[in-house]
Amino acid sequence: MNLIKELEDNHGPGCYPYRGIVLSEGYGAVVKDDTGKTYIDCAAGQGVANIGHCNKMVVDAVKQQAEKLITCTGSFYTEPRSLLLEKLVSITPEKLNNVFLCNSGAEAVEAAMKLARLVSSKTEFIAAMRSFHGRTFGALSATHNIKYKQDFQPLVPGFTHVPFNKFEKLQDAVNENTAAIILEIVQGEGGVNIGQPEYFQAVRRLCDEQNIILIIDEVQTGFCRTGKMFAFEHAGIVPDILCMAKAMGGGLPVGAIMFPEKYKMDPGKHGSTFGGSPLPCATAVAAIEFMQENDLAGQAEKKGAYLIDKLNTIKSEKIRKVRGLGLMIGIELKEKVQPHISALMELGILALPAGPTVLRLLPPLVIEYEQLDCTVKMIEKVLTS
Ligand code: PMP
Repeated sequence: MNLIKELEDNHGPGCYPYRGIVLSEGYGAVVKDDTGKTYIDCAAGQGVANIGHCNKMVVDAVKQQAEKLITCTGSFYTEPRSLLLEKLVSITPEKLNNVFLCNSGAEAVEAAMKLARLVSSKTEFIAAMRSFHGRTFGALSATHNIKYKQDFQPLVPGFTHVPFNKFEKLQDAVNENTAAIILEIVQGEGGVNIGQPEYFQAVRRLCDEQNIILIIDEVQTGFCRTGKMFAFEHAGIVPDILCMAKAMGGGLPVGAIMFPEKYKMDPGKHGSTFGGSPLPCATAVAAIEFMQENDLAGQAEKKGAYLIDKLNTIKSEKIRKVRGLGLMIGIELKEKVQPHISALMELGILALPAGPTVLRLLPPLVIEYEQLDCTVKMIEKVLTS
């Protein structure tokens, strides 16, 4: 028995469905297990490793910052945090001038919803069906799938879920207590469902007319994943509050919300011990610089189009539809996806489910074309056997 597995199986929390392999190394789009077997990583740590595993700029930033200052709370100024704020403000629309730093996607969503209540003095939220926003009580209340929620009732009150991409349904759900509408641009966990620009533009107008805050959750879509730095750029809108995490820190845990100056909070209204720590701030700056210097958004756009074209050539009865934006790709199957994910792992490809029937690919955006070709070959093998 492998000691690593034994320790994790015996003492882990039980809530993670382990896949049976022990990962020990990663470089670029490839990870290696403890037997030396390599995998093309189209899971990328659930959409974290956009700039590739152990990216040199991030590794260097970790080393340099770790030798200077690792911890520093929000009560003290510190250079890495200031540089990250400057960087985030420089890559987002002018309106989003202020940043709250945290440590995960769910924390970003919590912060967004608390801020929405604070500035609106209203209490209710509208979210979309098939949305996923995280697993803390507030974020879970915004999440749609009952599977994640049923054992944890009562959740935060005041959440309504409406069909995604259907503006009239959303409009009908609005009332005088609606503080905010929270949406993903492409629903990741919910099946790689792409929102239409006209939908978001109509939602934006509604929010402006009714004085409702528009929260866009880009925890999964942000940082070049969809072929733009942020996916709201495809929709031609600017959110009031933008949530981000996952790929932001180049692999280290960091998240954030961005919002206009008029929403700035008074001291003590919110906070996080680790939020804005020097180490993840330094790696986030390095990660974003890598994205900019290597036009990672452009790479995601081109490679995504290439991958979708190739996937569309697969002749398999099992495929219902291939869809995606940039390198956020879903292959909707006519049957359960899980056995195919296991079969792909045997063949050296790590992929993700998105709901029961969608095979989701979120490879590092630095993935090479040969690696994409190999991925397609293996998917074809699995779906045609
Ligand atoms: N929002 C979205 C859109 C997500 O995809 C996720 C994670 N899959 C979260 C929020 C929660 O992020 P975390 O797991 O970092 O809390």
